[in-house]
Amino acid sequence: MYSFVLQIQEIDEGRATERVFPITPEWLAEALADTEVDGALDRTPGRLSVLAQRDGVELLVQARVEAALRVPCARCLEDVPVAVDVQATALFAPEATRRVPVEGEDIQLSAEDLDRDYYTHDTLVLDAFVREQLLLEVPMQPLCSSDCAGLEIPAHLRPPELGEGDEVDPRLAPLRALGATIRK
Ligand SMILES: [Zn+2]
Repeated sequence: MYSFVLQIQEIDEGRATERVFPITPEWLAEALADTEVDGALDRTPGRLSVLAQRDGVELLVQARVEAALRVPCARCLEDVPVAVDVQATALFAPEATRRVPVEGEDIQLSAEDLDRDYYTHDTLVLDAFVREQLLLEVPMQPLCSSDCAGLEIPAHLRPPELGEGDEVDPRLAPLRALGATIRK
């Protein structure tokens, strides 16, 4: 089931239509199920505010997406909260106008084509658009703090060749020697 749906006939030509949708924890859980990202633990609902304008068959959508997310720290896997508050604009055209390349044809896609999304029949579904905006806002290397030391390897799991902590792995000795020469 889609959550963020506008009926095309609700959107009058020449007059912007405003809609606000809650982004529920259930929606976040389902939409982000195949990612490392999840909704905030306190299950704060987010909000999608939409301003839609129609120009002929094309729809211009200006959206603001607000949501509280969490993502595992890239070093220690602790939850890192990510507060999303992003504005985005997209142009939607009827699916029937999408240019599908005929076999052997080499369609040159313009920048305009690439920025365009599509709607089918009489319904504009924004679920995929909202999901994309959320994921774009999540940092590639999320850290719980800039000096996160990472996972500590429990003593009984430390491979013996790692030694007792401060000792340098003998395999790294050549590197250390090299470092010493460079520093001279
Ligand atoms: Zn961390």
